[in-house]
Amino acid sequence: MGDHRGPPSDVASVLSNLKRPRRAVVTAGMPYANGPLHLGHLAGAHVPADIHARWMGLLIGRENVLFVCGTDEHGSTSELSALKAGKPIREFVDTIHDQQAKTLQRYSVGLDTYTGTSRPECFPIHAKLCQDILRQLRDHGLLEKRSSRQWFDPKVQRFLPDRFVRGRCPNPKCENEDAYSDECDRCGHQHSPEDLIRPRSTISDATPEMRETVHWFLDMSKVSETMREWLEGKKKTWRSSVLSGVLDTVMPSLRFAGEHEPAYKELKASLPKHKSKYAPGKQVVLQFTNRADLDTARARLKDSGIDSELADGWAHRSITRDIAWGVPVPEEETDLAGKTLYVWPDSLIAPISFSRVALTQRGENPERYAEFWRDPEARIYQFLGQDNVFFYVLMQGALWLGTQSDITRLPVAGDLQLTEIFGCFHLQVGGQKMSKSLGNFFTGDQLLDEKGYEADQIRYYLALLGLAEKQSDFEFAKLDERNKFLAGPLNAAFERPISAAHSKFGGRVPEGVLIEKVVADTVRIVQRYVKSMDRADHPNLLFEIENYARTINSLFTQYKPHDDRHPEESRRNALFTAFYVLKNLMIMLYPFVPSTMERLRESLRLPADVFRIDELGTPIPAGHELGPKGTYFPAVAAEGHEPTSEA
Ligand SMILES: [Zn+2]
Repeated sequence: MGDHRGPPSDVASVLSNLKRPRRAVVTAGMPYANGPLHLGHLAGAHVPADIHARWMGLLIGRENVLFVCGTDEHGSTSELSALKAGKPIREFVDTIHDQQAKTLQRYSVGLDTYTGTSRPECFPIHAKLCQDILRQLRDHGLLEKRSSRQWFDPKVQRFLPDRFVRGRCPNPKCENEDAYSDECDRCGHQHSPEDLIRPRSTISDATPEMRETVHWFLDMSKVSETMREWLEGKKKTWRSSVLSGVLDTVMPSLRFAGEHEPAYKELKASLPKHKSKYAPGKQVVLQFTNRADLDTARARLKDSGIDSELADGWAHRSITRDIAWGVPVPEEETDLAGKTLYVWPDSLIAPISFSRVALTQRGENPERYAEFWRDPEARIYQFLGQDNVFFYVLMQGALWLGTQSDITRLPVAGDLQLTEIFGCFHLQVGGQKMSKSLGNFFTGDQLLDEKGYEADQIRYYLALLGLAEKQSDFEFAKLDERNKFLAGPLNAAFERPISAAHSKFGGRVPEGVLIEKVVADTVRIVQRYVKSMDRADHPNLLFEIENYARTINSLFTQYKPHDDRHPEESRRNALFTAFYVLKNLMIMLYPFVPSTMERLRESLRLPADVFRIDELGTPIPAGHELGPKGTYFPAVAAEGHEPTSEA
């Protein structure tokens, strides 16, 4: 028994040592406008992003956080889906968008805005921003025009994206008449579009022709050294699953024909430090630690008769398309008239546009977006699928750096700030990739409507899967097992102090002092909490929070605050301490199960602004009047399991 009254200084000092950004933007991977949100979207982007946005709200105040997302509406995917559905594209996209927005709301994904790139509140802002960025990239030498050959449909008089052309697979062993222009989805054969046999347009059925077309290519090699410097600084903070691939990509590399290998081996020791590996096409690739070393080595190789070229194919990507549904290229580019920005850069820029939409909807000046995106003291966190890391790190990094007046240095105040990336692995369901034909494909709505789960039950389980660390499997048996724990011991930890206060202490928090051991445990869990939340490292943290919740049940077992036959002073201290633990639990679990914690907050009659990290470690004052006990985690009906409740 200790003599702690009021907040223990040690939790406070844990909190005062925290680094807090001035502001934060949180974004989640943008769903295409081609169907409802499914479990994979929620697990791999929207729920982890929401947990992080709520965590940032606890840390720096929700008013300093912008959590934005929207539908990725441009490009051929939406166009083709609308065409298939036989609907005008605007109507098609709006229907999908509204359905997605509703699902996100049902899962308590607390976005400031869920808009979309083509929507009327967003498009004018977004188009102008994209065009401004394109002009800056052009003026800073990151764009080059290249001519290529592309399918053209003479009947509808337009260029066709590759996926709009089908034909017979060029693989003589395959009889697929419906192969894509670049790939056969039956035999996996990859081919150049011109090798497709009997090509036909999926729009008009006409025979398409190959025509020359000019496009803008983004030259990411212009900023690859700056990106290398940025990424090398992330070795301690980013997960290697996100960092290693992109860092490897930006390391300066050259390649030469394998026939030069013996001559290279003679020279090897005299070249700057490098790694070598074989590459397809009997080539040797050398990777250096910086560009200057590569240039030295390249000159030395050339002196010995070894011709080499830069291995930077990754860095050149076409970023315009011959389709009408998108953001038009700047009008002064007359030779690109009628072309639009490719949907990838379009969607990478979109969260900035969404931030302006969100500020306007909050009744604030949209120009304040700069305080979130252009301030080195602010942070931008992006949650996305692991397979999109290339785009969100390298293409976005190049777009941002390319807008700077000096592209050879990292951003300073006033520049667009580079973002923090959380890549999530794919979710499997029942041990397999989700697919409609396997019957393991679930939309977010189905789990609530047909399976009867509550959104918080799903959210809690998804957080336990740890998709940021590894590929994980969604198993209904494990979900139900977890729900039994929530409805059982965890629910009991919430209910017991409230019931005991009502039955024995007049519905108020009793006078008491905090039990020292519990205070020490609290300091430990708070330390762990702030560290894990910052890294979006949830599964082990949740197990520790569950253990902390068991403290309440232990206090009841040991001191029996609900039973008059035991000494009153220790009962009061135990119950006072139980409410202290309960308040800490409520705040710590809020990002994971927000609706449930809101209900608990109402039972405890605490103000809405109690959801702040600085409220951790501060007891509910003695004499505080409580509301009635509510229902927190429901019993798992199928199992016939009743929540524990006593006192
Ligand atoms: Zn084939």
